[in-house]
Amino acid sequence: MKPLIAIVLAASVSTWAAAAVGVRVSADTSGPSTRVVLTFAKGASCTVQDHVGRVVVSCDTALEPDPSTGKLDDTILSEWRLEAERTLAFTTGPGYRRVDSFELKNPYRLVLDAQGTRTAKAVEVAPTAGQTLPVVVIDPGHGGVETGATGPGGLQEKDVTLDLARRLKDILQKQGVTVVLTRDDDRVLPLDDRTAIANQNRADLFLSLHLNASKRKSAVGAETYFLSPSATDADAKSLAAAENASRGTADAASAPSAGLDLILWDLAQNSHLAESSKLAEAVQRSLNGLTGIKDRGVRQAPFRVLMGATMPAILVESGFISNPDEESRLKDDAYKDKIAHAIAQAVSEFRQQLAASR
Ligand SMILES: [Zn+2]
Repeated sequence: MKPLIAIVLAASVSTWAAAAVGVRVSADTSGPSTRVVLTFAKGASCTVQDHVGRVVVSCDTALEPDPSTGKLDDTILSEWRLEAERTLAFTTGPGYRRVDSFELKNPYRLVLDAQGTRTAKAVEVAPTAGQTLPVVVIDPGHGGVETGATGPGGLQEKDVTLDLARRLKDILQKQGVTVVLTRDDDRVLPLDDRTAIANQNRADLFLSLHLNASKRKSAVGAETYFLSPSATDADAKSLAAAENASRGTADAASAPSAGLDLILWDLAQNSHLAESSKLAEAVQRSLNGLTGIKDRGVRQAPFRVLMGATMPAILVESGFISNPDEESRLKDDAYKDKIAHAIAQAVSEFRQQLAASR
């Protein structure tokens, strides 16, 4: 077989060499799944197929992988190579079970999450009694030089979101929930990476925590959002634009895409919208129960950080940091505990609803 492949490649070299798209291949075997990220030098359209003994990525353009071949010390995926000019093949290992994939844009990336068994790590996250342990990924908004909104007294959104995330993590962990924070320190993290962390950890829920800001100093109250291609109203639209502007170091200079990426929409969050909406309602209801928080209702907007999430995903604006009274409350430990408990309560209700409906 080998000589034949060589002949085919040689014969077509002149036609594809100029048009071949560079693809950087990187693999991460440190998580529960083996994650491969293919970063394309320019846009392409690819399909992922599960064949016996290999996972095949077929694209609509010739490919030039870098490195061209690779070996992984891994029981799920063992190596990759260019199988045909438009086809990249990954050889599966004895621990391989199945592959999930999703796409990210700007730059175009195809992410393969190969699921399977990897001794020590697989045991660590294995269910104890035939039931999947719930995994919640909490995303503290902003970080590092991307401070988010700043209150009139100087309080920064990035600090409060991290504080709230840690409090919420403590509460959920005591309930037996496995919690992963997208960041647990003060650093820049691109929006797409936050969603990717949720996908990689096979999260059951993704909660992105933020604080609202308005030119109207009187604006107060919590708002809970789930993803939509169009915003509920002008305020929701400008809020999404502001949150989407925190792009992280990778592409901080590039403007967020004007509209929602419809391909990504179909692939990922679309099938979870009904559940995302239910989760948002539960969180909003619970936050409304907090003294002094006015109901601003469940809302929708095209938040970049929710796109591509392959599980119910919401964005919670716990209050207006731009309002002097709310800013003061957000400095108070007891108040922050109340917010964290309110969100945890909603998560618990949602999980019960889900268990009852499945
Ligand atoms: Zn924010």
